[in-house]
Amino acid sequence: MVQYPQSPLMGRMMSQPLLISSLIHHADRYYPTTEIVSRRVEGDIHRYTYRDCHRRSRQLANALKKLGVVMGDRIATLAWNGYRHLEAYYGVSGSGAVLHTINPRLHPEQVAYIANHAEDQYLMFDMTFLPVIEAVAAHCKTIKGFIALCDRDRMPADSKIANLMCYEELIAAESDQYEWPLFDENSASSLCYTSGTTGNPKGALYSHRSTLLHSYASALPDALNVSARDVVLPVVPMFHVNAWGLPYSVMLTGAKIVFPGPALDGKSLYELFEQEKVTFSAGVPTVWLGLLTYVGQNKLTFSSFKRTVIGGSACPPAMMKTLRHDYGVEVVHAWGMTEMSPLGTSCTLLAKHENLPEEQKQAKLEKQGRAIFGVDMKIVDDDGKELPWDGKTYGNLLVKGPWVVDGYFKSEGGDVLENGWFPTGDVAVIDDEGYLQITDRSKDVIKSGGEWIGTIDLENIAVAHPAVLQAACIGVAHPKWDERPLLVVVKKPGADVSKEELIQFYEGKIAKWWTPDDVVFAEALPLGATGKILKNKIRETYRDYKLPTA
Ligand code: AMP
Repeated sequence: MVQYPQSPLMGRMMSQPLLISSLIHHADRYYPTTEIVSRRVEGDIHRYTYRDCHRRSRQLANALKKLGVVMGDRIATLAWNGYRHLEAYYGVSGSGAVLHTINPRLHPEQVAYIANHAEDQYLMFDMTFLPVIEAVAAHCKTIKGFIALCDRDRMPADSKIANLMCYEELIAAESDQYEWPLFDENSASSLCYTSGTTGNPKGALYSHRSTLLHSYASALPDALNVSARDVVLPVVPMFHVNAWGLPYSVMLTGAKIVFPGPALDGKSLYELFEQEKVTFSAGVPTVWLGLLTYVGQNKLTFSSFKRTVIGGSACPPAMMKTLRHDYGVEVVHAWGMTEMSPLGTSCTLLAKHENLPEEQKQAKLEKQGRAIFGVDMKIVDDDGKELPWDGKTYGNLLVKGPWVVDGYFKSEGGDVLENGWFPTGDVAVIDDEGYLQITDRSKDVIKSGGEWIGTIDLENIAVAHPAVLQAACIGVAHPKWDERPLLVVVKKPGADVSKEELIQFYEGKIAKWWTPDDVVFAEALPLGATGKILKNKIRETYRDYKLPTA
């Protein structure tokens, strides 16, 4: 950590560390009756308040203390979005231990690798993941006990898991008297491993300070814009970059929170949106696909849903238009990554855009947006030279800020910064108003005849076709051009379109030489653990594909 010089004249403000426990203290004190609603793994709807959550988080902190957990110990979770997971967010981090959220969709081998790498001491899990725990328990060398997030009567009768405990029993035995300890705000608070499409996953280790600053910034009106009048439903999982910080920003602002649990299908989500009068939600595009398909097929409308943040991968313009025009939902396109807690940019218009024609507004909103205060960004060429913000020059995107990693947990991967900037691995353009547009992951970019073709644009055009549900574009070897684009398409149920029609669909929308050379139809696209399309898997499948032009 860099040490800065001290001025001979220091300010006279209270020295109060920015700690996660202060968020739940605030929510309890100022929004004691605000609700937390959860669809549970058990299937029913659970409801209680911020005051209840605070009380149970303190009971958990006492239970952890009794188990011998000390500051800095890693406590893992394998859980859906729900109130018990939220109690872990506060009970674990608030007491000075480190909450390690593991993505349950990872292969069990990777779960064990991550738990061992993190040296987790205890692991809390939803009963859905009992089979995963049974598969990995014997391989997790540092874990002293597994805590099932359920009541006693839901505990498995004949489990072979050593030291299996019942969460409800554990906390029921504890007092709710607990003073949240004060400590250095730079202490680690939570740990999230990157998806790791190449090599082993690496840990982003957040601090209390970084989490609090990110919570302040992400709640701003041009970012997530969360307020005490909102009902927030995070579809983005609490095991993926702390549900984009929402479990923290709702406590900061006093918004009501609604957790969807394991039921992420369109019907279940829609019902919860309507029952709880959800105003704001956040998730990756693939989730909205399910919800919009359900709503569209059943000719439904939203009665309270006003705004959504879409990120994690590019939001297809067609999806944005449907949400905006058919359902009156404002879409804020956002970009970030695990290493950035995750928020980097969000896209909203400026006052001067107010009177622009609709197509120009839409074109602006399709970008990933402007940096939120705290994050600085730049694009550079392969020699590290900074490139202009002219809306057309592509470069490698670098970022810095107080909620951006300065290296990975246990220094995995070595020194990752480039002159103090974090290389994101994304390729982007930035326009003269500071709007970022991601054109690709650098490893997904198609290199055709020495020029780059960004696949996001090509995919966005494909999914704008009425017969296309999902599309992914990959580079396939070409004897003359090195690589040329191949479009892999999943059709909408009951819809039809030919290769030729799809290729024709690109005409006039893009430079001719960017047009895909061929189209293949697939039943489904492979999705990774965070709901993103796995391009590397698709590349493997079509590695030997012969393009008609080759
Ligand atoms: P993760 O760390 O798993 O959240 O992945 C971060 C990566 O997702 C980024 O580096 C981008 O490549 C991609 N990503 C996130 N948000 C967007 C977005 N709005 N548009 C395009 N790509 C995105």
